[in-house]
Amino acid sequence: MTNFKNTLNTRTNHIPFLDLKLINRNYEKSINEVLAKKISSGWYILGEEVKKFENSFADYCGTKYCIGVANGLDALMLLFKASGFPKGSEVLVPSNTYIASILAISLAGLTPVLVEPDINSYLIDPKKIEEKITENTKAILAVHLYGKCCEMELINEIAKKNNLKVFEDAAQSHGAMYLNKKAGSLSDGAGFSFYPTKNLGAMGDAGAITTNDDNLASKIRELRNYGSAEKYIFGEQGINSRLDEMQAAILNVKLPDLDQDNKIRRSIAKRYLTEIQNTLINLPFEGTIDDDAWHLFVIRTDDRNKLREYLMHHNVGTDVHYPVPPHKQSAYKEWNNDSFPISEKIHKEIISLPLNATLTEEEVSYIIEKINLYK
Ligand SMILES: *Cc1c(COP(=O)(O)O)cnc(C)c1O
Repeated sequence: MTNFKNTLNTRTNHIPFLDLKLINRNYEKSINEVLAKKISSGWYILGEEVKKFENSFADYCGTKYCIGVANGLDALMLLFKASGFPKGSEVLVPSNTYIASILAISLAGLTPVLVEPDINSYLIDPKKIEEKITENTKAILAVHLYGKCCEMELINEIAKKNNLKVFEDAAQSHGAMYLNKKAGSLSDGAGFSFYPTKNLGAMGDAGAITTNDDNLASKIRELRNYGSAEKYIFGEQGINSRLDEMQAAILNVKLPDLDQDNKIRRSIAKRYLTEIQNTLINLPFEGTIDDDAWHLFVIRTDDRNKLREYLMHHNVGTDVHYPVPPHKQSAYKEWNNDSFPISEKIHKEIISLPLNATLTEEEVSYIIEKINLYK
């Protein structure tokens, strides 16, 4: 394997879970140049850089439209707002996702309804969707968690049969593929986040919506800018959620490397999947290894804290995405007594291993060796 982007990796012994400084060091020079140009241009909101990014990212995803917004939460929330569902309509969402997927539904005045995931893929289980559909259900939010696309053919089929919209939470799946199409192009509309740790990360908050739907696109364009399609004319009560020029400029510099970065992630994931051999460790589903964007490499083990401490002792940083399921959060008190056993098991057992394009081949070997020696 010779494609590791390790020329600037000067780490000595500690392998952090993620090193954003190192990831962005590759871009420092070109970003400094575009930002300097931007600063002297005097145009900071909704200008050429945003337009350029929207065009390039729509091209990249294979959609007709991309609309830049302030962050991933807003991207999802605006998809729901723009859809115009009656207040209180139900939206199906996996019970094991980052809280933003669920908050976006609530913030749009709709009711999130949790659906259990599949224990192997960690993704919403299509077999469990239909039992949750009521006459108030209007949409399904498919979350491509950890960089793997949901079973969109089945989900779209269920939606069609029940007259529902389908949206994607693509915040962890930039560049992930499903049947030769990219995440973000597999439904009525998708929300992306460019939070700094994502596969395509800005240097601040940023997000976008991709869609092929003309009406949805123009509605979201208005809603992100106070509900205005024409200067000082407000057709809707919108919000201020614009992607700013600086972040767009940074994303324009980084987007051309996304596929290469994902390729490196895949090759590391492949090594983990084939070389980690320890009966105490459950590896993630590998059936779609070459399609996944591998945002995170998530393993399961009975005694998570013991493994985390062991790896920490050997200078390997890990993280947990996420330790507490949404239905056990105080933010959703009404769900605290509900039971989602698969989700609870996942949240109790998961650990994310380091997985990013700055890892060297030696570091990956070291992590594998230590995990194989774990008892
Ligand atoms: C990061 C993330 C979001 C939210 O993105 P922000 O830009 O932080 O608002 C939404 N959903 C998922 C699955 C995420 O990982």
